[in-house]
Amino acid sequence: MNANYDDWAELSADEYDNAKERMIDRSLTALEEYLPGVREQCDWLEAATPKTFERYTLHTMGASFGTKFEGLDISRSIFKVVPGLFHVGSVGIIMSGWLGAINYGVIVANDVDAHLRSV
Ligand SMILES: Cc1cc2nc3c(=O)[nH]c(=O)nc-3n(C[C@H](O)[C@H](O)[C@H](O)COP(=O)(O)OP(=O)(O)OC[C@H]3O[C@@H](n4cnc5c(N)ncnc54)[C@H](O)[C@@H]3O)c2cc1C
Repeated sequence: MNANYDDWAELSADEYDNAKERMIDRSLTALEEYLPGVREQCDWLEAATPKTFERYTLHTMGASFGTKFEGLDISRSIFKVVPGLFHVGSVGIIMSGWLGAINYGVIVANDVDAHLRSV
């Protein structure tokens, strides 16, 4: 489900744990509409929040899919400002996420190639 960093960031440790438990419970309740009794079948339940993604991916505010389109202009202009310095990652080209990052990698590799051939 979608999540806002601000909804989680300021919670105390207890509030955070309780909010995660409520999220798990709500998710199971919704899932049980499609899979009755699924709650009893689960051996272990985990919940991740934007704070989890921030901790494990180092992405600011847990933005696990990188930037949307606003990151692209900055990324595309870095090598024009500092020749030879290229940036690649999930910056909203075509889409964000790993697929966007990989597609963008191919595009930037082409820029690097052109740069190397020009020096
Ligand atoms: C739980 C989860 C599920 C996801 N599911 C999908 C999915 O189904 N489909 C999809 O398309 N995308 C998915 N994504 C998003 C996708 O994984 C990311 O958008 C993509 O991996 C971002 O790639 P990136 O190269 O831009 O950044 P990253 O893969 O985060 O690479 C950045 C690298 O920089 C390093 N780094 C950070 N700071 C420093 C520093 N100061 N010095 C040196 N190194 C540093 C980090 O350690 C990391 O290795 C998911 C992400 C998460 C967290």
